[in-house]
Amino acid sequence: MRRATLAVTAGRPVGPGAPLNPPVVLTSTYRAGGERTYGRSGGPTHEAFEAALGALEGGRCVAFASGMAAVVAVLETLPAGGRVVAPRSLYWGVRQVLDHRAQAGRLAAAYVDVTDTEATLAACEGAALLWLETPTNPLLDVADLPALVEGAHARGARVAVDNTFATPLLQRPLEHGADVVVHSATKYLGGHADLLMGAAVTADDALVASLVERRDVDGAVPGPLDAFLALRGLRTLDVRLQRAQASAAELARRLAAHPGVTAVRYPGLAEDPGHARAAAQMDGYGAMIAFETAGTADDAEAVARRVRLIVHATSLGGVESLIERRTRWAGEVAMGTPPTLLRLSVGIEHVEDLWADLEQALDALPGR
Ligand SMILES: *Cc1c(COP(=O)(O)O)cnc(C)c1O
Repeated sequence: MRRATLAVTAGRPVGPGAPLNPPVVLTSTYRAGGERTYGRSGGPTHEAFEAALGALEGGRCVAFASGMAAVVAVLETLPAGGRVVAPRSLYWGVRQVLDHRAQAGRLAAAYVDVTDTEATLAACEGAALLWLETPTNPLLDVADLPALVEGAHARGARVAVDNTFATPLLQRPLEHGADVVVHSATKYLGGHADLLMGAAVTADDALVASLVERRDVDGAVPGPLDAFLALRGLRTLDVRLQRAQASAAELARRLAAHPGVTAVRYPGLAEDPGHARAAAQMDGYGAMIAFETAGTADDAEAVARRVRLIVHATSLGGVESLIERRTRWAGEVAMGTPPTLLRLSVGIEHVEDLWADLEQALDALPGR
């Protein structure tokens, strides 16, 4: 079955008389004598979500309370002092976790330009893990997934890929040989900005067992209501993504032609440095755009404040379009993100309404 179909069908209860949807099982504990014991060790609602996302990514899924909880669980499987090679610019929360672990001596971290395949692989010599995010948040850099997976494995490093921006409908890192895929299900998978959840997916049974153990011991289990909502969101992922992606392609093209915009990053633009790689390894270019505006950081911030339909807020991947100047966060400044860079998560509103909103916000830039 195609993934658009799996998104609708996977993880449903089966058999005569079964409900079509998994019930929200609100319990912390189970009567003794059965297979289930305690809520932290497993639960039917998040297991239904796991079945669905596992089918979409082509592995076994372990759901977590947030994307960061999934990230930390994967890092906790590494040996003490193990070196992690990661993109210089990536989701700042992951950067923070790596920096904290490095400062504490738990892990070592090496940051590289992941668009430079040779330099990235040179850093993988003797490393425990290559951590990839592609496209990256917020710069939309595209890493050469097949070459990096093969090269990292040849150097003895495992490979983890944060697939939050692409989703399994547009990119399946396990098919490229990656060892584990990580998601912030808070974003596209849930898709409605109403929950926090994460997941790790792998085809390695030993890794599944240690991730499940980490989740149980560390207590990073998702709540049943969040798991129910995430699975409900997953049912419409294909149609949401198709619409948002088509609008993003159009908005990126118009932004690139707007005199108030000095740079646009969207892998679907033919002139984007990540275009050829994205075309080779993805089934679409996604719905995230990064662009820089003419003038100062304050001028860019004012654009984010002037939008009326698009919401000025952090996060991404929902039905509603969101915009923010990423360097309003100190961690993002430290990673070298351009001060006028605005990250736009394109939702499923009508594209002409979105453009009219962006245009009025950009046309008020000084000097325009
Ligand atoms: C949001 C995000 C995360 C963290 O996920 P949470 O659900 O917020 O904990 C990790 N990676 C990427 C790429 C993200 O966008």
